[in-house]
Amino acid sequence: MPVSFLFSAVLVLAAASAQAAVRLGVLVVVDQMRPEYLDRSDLPDGGFRRLRREGAVFTNARHLHIPTETAPGHAALSTGRSPAVHGIVANDWYDRAAGSDTYCVADSVYGIGPEHLRGPTLADALKASDPKARVFAVSGKDRGAVILGGRKADLALWFDRFTGEFTTSSYYRRPSWLAAFNAELKKKNLLPVKDGRVPKDLIASPAYDEALDLLVEALVARERVGRGASTDLLLVSYSGTDLIGHRYGLERPEMDAQLKSLDAIMGRLLARLVRASGGSLALAFSADHGAIPSPEDPAGKALGVRRLNWEKFGASLESALQAKWPLKGAAWIVSNQLPHLYLNRRAAEALGLEWHDFLDQAAKVLSGVDGLAGVYLPDSKGTPFDAQIRRSYDPGRSGDLFAIMGQNVLLGDAAPGTSHGSPWDYDARVPLVFWGRGVLAGRVDAPAAAVDLAPTLGRLLGLDYPPGDGAAVRTEALAVPR
Ligand SMILES: [Zn+2]
Repeated sequence: MPVSFLFSAVLVLAAASAQAAVRLGVLVVVDQMRPEYLDRSDLPDGGFRRLRREGAVFTNARHLHIPTETAPGHAALSTGRSPAVHGIVANDWYDRAAGSDTYCVADSVYGIGPEHLRGPTLADALKASDPKARVFAVSGKDRGAVILGGRKADLALWFDRFTGEFTTSSYYRRPSWLAAFNAELKKKNLLPVKDGRVPKDLIASPAYDEALDLLVEALVARERVGRGASTDLLLVSYSGTDLIGHRYGLERPEMDAQLKSLDAIMGRLLARLVRASGGSLALAFSADHGAIPSPEDPAGKALGVRRLNWEKFGASLESALQAKWPLKGAAWIVSNQLPHLYLNRRAAEALGLEWHDFLDQAAKVLSGVDGLAGVYLPDSKGTPFDAQIRRSYDPGRSGDLFAIMGQNVLLGDAAPGTSHGSPWDYDARVPLVFWGRGVLAGRVDAPAAAVDLAPTLGRLLGLDYPPGDGAAVRTEALAVPR
């Protein structure tokens, strides 16, 4: 082959790959979003409708871990792995060495940071493959931003309910424009501080995500997101729907107003990011978990959902153990972070109980407590939840037992508010959509997993990010499956 031909072939290849590189990758997470919110027919075009029309929509996507709550859900999306790998077993877990509960993004040096996050993340893999790539993570919640951003985020910003401002920790760079942005935000009076904090009824209102939308607008402009030297990755987590769900449930006017507002925010976001990147973007959209309909509302009534009081339920777990093995002045359950139950190892030893045998018996005793589907050891075999438990188990952080809530049981008294955390479909099912350059539009009804998102978005960004346990690159979403 002549040298000149070889040379031009190399040039053509280089041009093709430069063209294929997407300037902007985006991950949008809606905290507590059920898949059917995407299918509402009463919304204008531009937001959810546009995603549905132009995107690859997986209608049957699930989280594979428990508990289905914010931190493990965000970690599943940002890492494409389960808690057994990424280590974020819950929002809070019990630190046996310290003898106290710990928060998922607590950091021993920086206050808030990704110290507890383990294993690979899509954002870190992008930065490792390309030193010019930039990563920006924002959320209403600190854990949303930190867990999405990975360990090398260029920026991670979240809302501080005590100051009414967006903030970061010293783990990250504090952008020079943030103070001026916060001053502008205060002038708008969206989330004013009263008596030392932003009132709960304002946090649980569309204003929460509207404030984040303003932050994203400023971030895109000030950091020239989508116009960097290489690929930029923008990770956005909207928290408002979760706060509204916890306070008002899924079927009240407050949720309706929130979803309309969020849809408008999505419309503005899509248009803004297309503009910023010159159309060179690939976006993935999902949620950290769903939620159960409240028993006071029509869908909850139809399902036969019932409420249990959190404190009473916890007390009945403890008293079931005390009835079989009475302890004087001590508790069997040293920390209750459902489904993780941490038991009193010292007490078992003092009674001469062999630990594994004791756990086996304790699981059987606890399984009889009203409201539970069952209580299992981490190495359980032959239960309906083996796969979820195996994927959710970290020996240093998980509970000694996994207590699985019964179907259609809602833990929490704040009627008409809802909650989540179980392995059941109402909590585990989430939307999963890919949209933008390189995406093949269409609906896919085959089962999919939330952990499919990271390797599939990676592929859209031209990055080989190997799928973890239970995950796959969803080639149905790719215009050119490679
Ligand atoms: Zn929640």
